[in-house]
Order: sequence, then structure tokens, then C-alpha cells
Amino acid sequence: MKTASIEVSAMSLVKEALVKAHQYQDEYNIFTFINDTAAIEKAAKIDERIKNGEDVGRLAGVPYALKDNFLSPEGGSTASAHVLEEFTSPITATTVKKLEDEGAIMIGRTNLDAFAHGSSTENSYYGATKNSKDTTRVAGGSSGGSAVAVALGIVEFATGTDTGGSIRQPASFNGIYGLKPTYGTISRYGVVAMASSLDCIGFFAQDPADIDLLMQITAGQDAKDMTSLPDYYGKEEKFDDPIKRIGIIKDFDNEVVHPEIRAALAREVEKLRASGHEIIELDMPALKYALAAYYIIQPAEVASNLARHDGVRYAFRSQDSQTLDALYQNTRNEGFMPENKRRIMIGNFVLSSGFYDAYYLKAAKARTLIIQEYEKAFEKCDVILTPVSPNPAFKLGEKVDDPVAMYLEDLMSVSLNLAGVPGLTIPVGETANGLSLGLQLVGPRRSDQELLQFAKQMRSNTKPSEDEHADVMGGDD
Ligand code: GLN
Repeated sequence: MKTASIEVSAMSLVKEALVKAHQYQDEYNIFTFINDTAAIEKAAKIDERIKNGEDVGRLAGVPYALKDNFLSPEGGSTASAHVLEEFTSPITATTVKKLEDEGAIMIGRTNLDAFAHGSSTENSYYGATKNSKDTTRVAGGSSGGSAVAVALGIVEFATGTDTGGSIRQPASFNGIYGLKPTYGTISRYGVVAMASSLDCIGFFAQDPADIDLLMQITAGQDAKDMTSLPDYYGKEEKFDDPIKRIGIIKDFDNEVVHPEIRAALAREVEKLRASGHEIIELDMPALKYALAAYYIIQPAEVASNLARHDGVRYAFRSQDSQTLDALYQNTRNEGFMPENKRRIMIGNFVLSSGFYDAYYLKAAKARTLIIQEYEKAFEKCDVILTPVSPNPAFKLGEKVDDPVAMYLEDLMSVSLNLAGVPGLTIPVGETANGLSLGLQLVGPRRSDQELLQFAKQMRSNTKPSEDEHADVMGGDD
């Protein structure tokens, strides 16, 4: 990562990022807020401290983009939702504090599906973010803005949240690295909750080594998040030997996976085999319940977390409501996006007496089976290599009116959140029509750093060559 020094000023780094942010904003709709004034002020201070010979930290003057569901008093913290539009946070998320303590400078807040509900960023109150490779296509979601900010080279890194794929899928759709760490590795304090037992904080970057550095800075136990794990990142070797056994999952029905993703997986597997890795085929039949279990557990937690938005405690309040009930109803009706409302209704339904046993309890049992299945799989292999999603970036508007089609895009990403295991998107080239292709490396809990190291190794050993997709079937349109 390019940091500020006597030779390279923080001011020049920040100004360059701000110029690019403004330049791309109209076409791609990446940011909900661009932090012109405060970022320039901070850069000036850092340069001053560098001149005085002070230690300014490991991210001195590095501009970054912050997903707009991280709270801090700089700019509003909207979560791309109307109901939080006027909200300025009195607190600062632990991750933001740790990054800024090392000298990083937030140059903009990035667009997301409102409250991170979605897979395309089309559910944002501020409109969709466009894909970095093709502006007629989705950026992926929910962290679409963050992924595009990194892919277009506006910033070297951006933050994300991943409840069911929101870092890994947009990373894959835009050809960059994206890590969803082990559940609990980074404190969730100060991040707008989606589904608390699934939510993870993570990062986007062009280089796995940068994500490693960001993890060293931000991982660790936090008294403000009771689910944060005792410090382990960088302190623990998960495997005795270098990663050798690569698992591939037989159970994903091949027919649902786009032919160019299948071809990319086959290509990477061959390269790994050629470089001496053992390929293990895994039977993971419980994974077929993951999507259904996720779309019960996740909305149940969403419904609980969003209940706080009542027009009394937070920013937006619908005017002219004559009764308290009307105030609640109107605030929520006007303040939430249709997808937010759908999840609140599904969540309350699956938690209601009479349906709790049939849905929520069953989903919780399926979750246990999925956890056990991953544990069994990691007895046989070190890491698993699988698609992130069934398709490359789809067209804007293609799925937004069909929630089930949209949910099916999460088929391969949600089981990791249910099991709490880490997943890293690695870019693996492009489709014939120039769309990014990504795969995910999945490891046992706390193997985050080793996944990043392995990705680095894969990148140097097995760089995809130029003509590689010549023999692959054509695009989808
Ligand atoms: N696409 C998934 C969903 O809509 C995951 C979202 C996320 O990880 N925030 O729930």
C-alpha cells in the first residue's frame, strides 16, 4: 500500500483519490458522501506530523472508502436507507477507529443495498452502483460501492460487511480480492446490524497482502462486542504444513453454475494439481439446505434489529401522524425500502408462535448440520475452492423484481456465514465478454491469514494467461 512519507505527501494521495472519486461518481454512483473537507484537513495534519519526524502509523495518509453502514461522525451514516438519511452518529465504529489511529483517511462513504439487504446494490435508497467492467450490469451487493471504488483504483482498500456474501460476491463481480473473516475476528461495534449471528466485517483490496495488513490492524477482541473472539489473527498457525489438500464440492448442482465459472474452477483446479496439490472431492449434502436456512435465520434477526427504527429514537420521523401506531407505521413505510419490509415480514412470520418450530427451529437445526459438515470436510482437506456465486455480474434490473431469483444468487456464499468460517474471493480472469470471474477459498475457523497467504502463492504461481478463455463457451447474452 502506498503510504505517505517525506517524499510522497498524504495531501497528494488524498487529493488524487478525491479527484478520481468525483470523476467516477456520476457514471458509477459509488459514494453516498465524498469527504472533501475533512480528508484534506487530516492529510495536512499527517504531513505536518511526518515533517516533525513523528510516527504516523502503518496506514499513514492512505485514502480509503468506508461502506456506509459503518458509524462515525464524519458524514451521515445512512446504510443507504431513507430512515437513516438525517442520522449523524455520535459514536465511531471500532474498525474505523483502528484504521484512523494508523493514519488512514476516509475519502468517501460507499453505497450499499439499504441495510445491506441484497446482492446487487439495487436496493439502495440512492440508486444502484454500476459494475466496474460494464455499466449496464450490477456491481454486486450489498457492498457494491466499496468493491467498485477499489476496482476502479480510486482507493487501495475499502471496508465491507458480509452477512451472506456481501464482500465476496461484489469482489468477484469486479475482479478484486475480498475477505469475509471468521465470525468474531473483527469487532462489529459501531456497524449497523443486519443479522447479528452472521454479520462479519472485512475488506476489499487488489492485493491479498494489503488485506493481511488490514487484518493485523483491525482484528482482535473488543469489550464493546461480546461476540468478538480472543485475539488470534497473526498469532496462530492453523496448519502444520503448507496447504496441500484442496477440496472441491461435488454437491453443487453443476447445471445452476454458469459455464464460464465452471470452466474457471476447472482451470484453477488443474493448475493446483499441476503444482503438486492433492484434489479431494467432497460430499457436502447438507449445503443444499443452506440457502433456505439462511433466508429464515437472517430475516428473523433482521426483524429484531430493525425494530429500533420507530421514528422516535432515530433520525427520520414521518410527519403528521395522529397516533403513536400511525407514527410507527408511517415512519417504517416511508423509511424502509421494499426489500427491508419483505425481510421484516418474513422474519416476524418465522418467529411467530405456531410457525417458530416449523421454520426457525428447523433452520437452526439445519445450521448445526452445516457447521458439522464443514468440520468434517476440513478433516479431509485444508481449504475448499468453490464458486462465489452461480453467475457473473447480471444486468441491472434483471432480478430486482424477482426476490427469489435474487436470493438464488447467494446459493454458494451463505453457508460460510451460517458456519462462521472464513472465505476469500480471488479473481481468476474474465469471461469472453469481459466480465470479472472470481472463486472463493474457504478454510476452517481462524485460518484467515493462511487463506491470504495461499492466495498470494496462487497469484504468483498461477497467473492466468491472456488467451485462456479462448476455448471457453461464449457469454450469456
Ligand atoms: N445477498 C445476501 C442477502 O441479501 C447477503 C447480504 C449481505 O451479506 N449483507 O441477504
